[in-house]
Amino acid sequence: MPKYKAAEYIRLSYTDDKSNESDSVGNQRKLIENFIAHNPDIEVVAEKIDDGYSGILFDRPAFKEMMQDITDGKINCVIVKDLSRLGREYIETGRYLRRVFPAYGVRFIAINDNIDTARDSSGDDLAVSVKNIMNEAYCRDISIKTRSSLDIKRRNGDFVGAFTVYGYLKSEDNHNRLEIDPYAANIVRTIFRMRLEGSSASYIAGELNRLCVLSPLEYKKNKGLPYAKGGYTDKESCKWSATTIIRMLQDEVYTGVLAQGKQSTPHYKLKTLEQHPASEWIRVPDAHEPIIERRDFELVQRLRHVDTRTAPQKGTVYLFSGILICGCCGSRMTRKTNRSGGKEYNYYYCPTGKKHGCKNPVMLKESELMECVRVSLKGHIDNVASLEALLSGVDQQRINQQLASEYTEQIRENERQLEKVSEFKSRLYENLVQGILTKEEFAMFKGKYTAEAEKLKAAIAALKDKLTDVMENRSERNRWMAHFTQFSTLEALDRKVIIQLIQSITVIGKKELSIQFNYDNEYSKALSVLTEAELRKVG
Ligand SMILES: [Zn+2]
Repeated sequence: MPKYKAAEYIRLSYTDDKSNESDSVGNQRKLIENFIAHNPDIEVVAEKIDDGYSGILFDRPAFKEMMQDITDGKINCVIVKDLSRLGREYIETGRYLRRVFPAYGVRFIAINDNIDTARDSSGDDLAVSVKNIMNEAYCRDISIKTRSSLDIKRRNGDFVGAFTVYGYLKSEDNHNRLEIDPYAANIVRTIFRMRLEGSSASYIAGELNRLCVLSPLEYKKNKGLPYAKGGYTDKESCKWSATTIIRMLQDEVYTGVLAQGKQSTPHYKLKTLEQHPASEWIRVPDAHEPIIERRDFELVQRLRHVDTRTAPQKGTVYLFSGILICGCCGSRMTRKTNRSGGKEYNYYYCPTGKKHGCKNPVMLKESELMECVRVSLKGHIDNVASLEALLSGVDQQRINQQLASEYTEQIRENERQLEKVSEFKSRLYENLVQGILTKEEFAMFKGKYTAEAEKLKAAIAALKDKLTDVMENRSERNRWMAHFTQFSTLEALDRKVIIQLIQSITVIGKKELSIQFNYDNEYSKALSVLTEAELRKVG
């Protein structure tokens, strides 16, 4: 008589690449049955299949049925292909392995991970191995997916990656097609738009963090989507960073181009990625719906090379004090005067300098800076003026409505986050009592969740203020535009113009400035209302 009555537990995630046969239901079953054949002390009495459920959450129907069978005493053994079938989240998976299963005397076997609780009885060893195996299982998943040779699919414009880029999801009907993720795509549009309007990458990152918009990695974790290590992420903090923004701004995927085969690894345990030259990428245009128009994408690429070298011109005193920022270290730049041959030359420089840790302190001639800012500002004023003319027929109400719904959506998203954080926090103590978390881990998580909650609350408050502003300004029709158009004959810069129209100027390098104009949000809303109005005319 077999000693163990076992349930085969099979889980197929909806995000699993269906072309990865090793995780198919049939293959998981075959592997388990093969294992049973060599273990006569086990008899399979039930098969539980969760098809299309993430490994992060445990409220899966077949899993719950299996737990019921366990409490009813119908089974005393659970067999899975690998640990990630049971779950992909460490605390909860660990709880089942260390507390729940032992409490019911259930033997747990994860075949490919070489776990068998009838064999290894020490709970602590198990915890360590769980941690390692979770990582291992995760890495193996990436490896299988990236190493398969799928060039034909790539050439067809089929998406074969395991992880979609932020802004897209795998299509439900066809896992080889990318489909726009409406929420993330909006953030992508915001990023390109802010850049086009002159914001620096670090400013954009700061704004997104301030408003508690989840970074690509956080967003994917949060939605239970698979994510790549070393994707668009700042590994240390998980927050938006300038690097993330810059990489996104350079990614052609947002124009509908699918470029694959950029890199590969010889084996999943080798960390070094082999980078392939761009000429070897498989590049398919119009593979999916674009988020960013080609024209805008190219404009953003051109922005990287703004040249500030222009003819010298006599400077006005302290024109840029306070708004000129070192793009490298974030310090406000200081003005100084050099005299040489009876002439005066004015410069702005980073006061931090190499000595105190600024990696790329730039020194700029005031005259060159002025000319560059004057030209950009004039261009922007012209844009606002034509926008105003074009918008005269369009209702301001619509602009406000759009802003209001955007803020409301972000507030809701933040409130959802807050709820989740509070829930995590409230479960911590239980985890401490049950011994799943050590005291140190408990304190660490608690601090982390508290800080996170505070930040979310502040962001919600800031967004609510913005929302109120929008609601109350309903009658003040495009008043912000007058701030710009009153200077439409602008010939020379003065302090007043700069303060009124420019939020900040970030000096990225000797040849690259990033100008943040005032009323950015209003400007872009007006633009999108206009675009929509024109589309309606065409359609
Ligand atoms: Zn600096």
